[in-house]
Amino acid sequence: MAIARPVRALALAAALVWCFFIWQLLSPSGTAMTKDKYLSFERDPNLDPTGEPEGKLVRASEDYAPGATNSARINATLLALVRNEELDGMLQAMRDLERTWNHKFNYPWTFFNDVPFSEEFKKRTRAVTKAEVRYELIPKEHWEMPSWINQDLYDESVKILEEKKIQYADKISYHQMCRWNSGMFYKHPALANTQYYWRVEPNVHFFCDVDYDVFRYMHDSNKTYGFTINLYDAPASITTLWPETEKFLAEHPEYVHENSAMNWLTDKTRRPDHTKDANGYSTCHFWSNFEIGDMNFWRSKAYEDYFNHLDRAGGFFYERWGDAPVHSIALGLFEDSSKIHWFRDIGYQHIPFFNCPNSPKCKGCVTGRFTDGEAWLNREDCRPNWFKYVGMG
Ligand code: GDP
Ligand code: MN
Repeated sequence: MAIARPVRALALAAALVWCFFIWQLLSPSGTAMTKDKYLSFERDPNLDPTGEPEGKLVRASEDYAPGATNSARINATLLALVRNEELDGMLQAMRDLERTWNHKFNYPWTFFNDVPFSEEFKKRTRAVTKAEVRYELIPKEHWEMPSWINQDLYDESVKILEEKKIQYADKISYHQMCRWNSGMFYKHPALANTQYYWRVEPNVHFFCDVDYDVFRYMHDSNKTYGFTINLYDAPASITTLWPETEKFLAEHPEYVHENSAMNWLTDKTRRPDHTKDANGYSTCHFWSNFEIGDMNFWRSKAYEDYFNHLDRAGGFFYERWGDAPVHSIALGLFEDSSKIHWFRDIGYQHIPFFNCPNSPKCKGCVTGRFTDGEAWLNREDCRPNWFKYVGMG
């Protein structure tokens, strides 16, 4: 049967397009080219050999044994907000952190939940650490949607956020979680006598042996906050966060620190569209699923006033303000930026991003890899701006 010439031409064209597509997908140079297009650095600093931070470091000793009478531990805890259903992911994250760090220092774990932890959760988490473990219920008044949030307005806002493809917009619990992590966790009575925390989420990974007491490092080096990953956010989730922040600053100009990271927060040169869409905020933030922090900062008058202002404005529900941008803006404005530390030596992953240093102490991650997702995700890296405006301290 004869095939008409135009049909043959069409089939040939389709075959060529298909070949090109397969070539794009498989060719290593093709992938490298698309990746390069999005690369943030000429050279990622994680490719350079990384050791321990400068300053006095306290090593493991018998004084860090669980239950030691003269414990060398300071007032600090590993801290996780987690659901019973996430037990397996939590165990995995705990095993990683115990193996790389906590089995040497035995800091307590504190778990938080909006419903009681199951006996299985308690039994199995206790089994993977020698350290003390605490299980805490979140008081209703810390978790529930505040009385001034209007349900109809919330429902309408969710629709708009969904049109803008904002993930989790329709999950009330996600909004509650972000608000709790922003302004509530450090108010829990169980933490009243605790100063430092290390936030851990289920399913995260830790790759590198860390051989000093990280909390003592924070204390002795006068650091307020430590991060591993620094990202851009989705502007549509925080459209009015910066305008509300500006209103707050107009009332309280005295809270801005003289050595703030204001230019990291307001940079409009690197991703001008982001800064424009977020009404003046670069959207750069510390990725808060990892945080090592001093709760005295969250307990300060400046942060309390700021959080209350934001909470009243309603954006935890009418938009999808995350605790990451809220914490980051507050730190960037009110704290001395030299007290914010990049823990470059702590190998870390929360899907889809990594912090993977070049060190013989690390196993299981690819040195210098920022993401194992699509190449365009490399664009989300905001470390270059942090290093440019603040440094690598
Ligand atoms: P993502 O990292 O932004 O995708 O958000 P996650 O689903 O990982 O949630 C962030 C953290 O809050 C994780 O530690 C979750 O286990 C925890 N979390 C989120 N929602 C809830 C909730 O409704 N109840 C409890 N107890 N924990 C939650
Ligand atoms: Mn998560």
